Amino acid sequence: PAKQPVTVIGLGPMGRAMAGAYLDAGHAVTVWNRTAARAGGLVARGAVLAPDVAAAVAANELVVLSLTDYDAVFAVLDAAGAALAGRVVVNLSSDTPERAREAARRLAELGAVHLTGGVQSPPSGIGKPESSTFYSGPVEAFQRHRETLEVLTGADYRGDDPGLAQLYYQIQMDLFWTSLVGYLHATAVAEANGISAEEFLPYAGSTAASMPDFLAFYAPRITAGFHEGDVDRVAMGLASVEHVRHTVEASGVDASLPALLADAFGRAVAAGHGDSSATSLVGLFRKA
Ligand code: NDP
Repeated sequence: PAKQPVTVIGLGPMGRAMAGAYLDAGHAVTVWNRTAARAGGLVARGAVLAPDVAAAVAANELVVLSLTDYDAVFAVLDAAGAALAGRVVVNLSSDTPERAREAARRLAELGAVHLTGGVQSPPSGIGKPESSTFYSGPVEAFQRHRETLEVLTGADYRGDDPGLAQLYYQIQMDLFWTSLVGYLHATAVAEANGISAEEFLPYAGSTAASMPDFLAFYAPRITAGFHEGDVDRVAMGLASVEHVRHTVEASGVDASLPALLADAFGRAVAAGHGDSSATSLVGLFRKA
């Protein structure tokens, strides 16, 4: 059978990579972008530039959105209006789970289906099956279009709730940003003491590489609600982060990050968890 034609709306670095991947894979591609000039390279490669959003949506059943955020998504959906009836909108723009649910509700009112996507790859990973995107929404629509979606990246379907793909995306970003900022902060302390980022690199890498083992050890315990301090104790964690904080302060580096950690461990001790494992912070954070 002929390859499914696709509409791509939003031609930032991601949308351009997506439209390009579809062209490379032999799909007919219709594009639209608020700034039409960004479509130039794709049109030269065979894409059709629609004159307006409604025409772009009308052109194909499958409509991929790659926009800055859901404010942009709602602006585009409002402009498309009734043309959306019968369409499957694959929204690969990032935002919160609640806004994804709102988009799904609005599209349902217009007789369209919303599939939420959270792309875990930069533009260079688009068109590569080893990259991954979280999807959620109606399973039937996902399965029907899975093959076409997998032209962009691997597809990891998380469930029916339209918020789920964004939720998985955001918990990954929560982990990513705190980890990256932790690395950057430690590097600032290293540099303040004459150790270059490159000298620090193998040691930073070794700490980062030890993380999967910690996570694999702790995850089943957290699921089971088992927080006994048999291998680590909150009181020990508090003493440790205080040593970090004092080292940071003595280095003349901003100490607000270790102060935040000391505050969390200190509150856990105050709540009576001094002899429990650091995993008891999960409960502390949930109540906060
Ligand atoms: P950009 O913000 O660079 O581009 C997004 C597009 O949104 C542009 O085409 C822009 O149009 C359009 N846009 C913004 N506001 C409006 C509006 N009000 N009305 C109509 N169109 C609008 O984003 P990226 O291409 O980098 O990324 C797209 C999405 O993918 C984002 O949600 C991002 O978080 C996510 N993502 C990005 C990654 C990356 O590495 N870049 C990685 C993973 C996810 P115009 O050209 O006219 O400005």
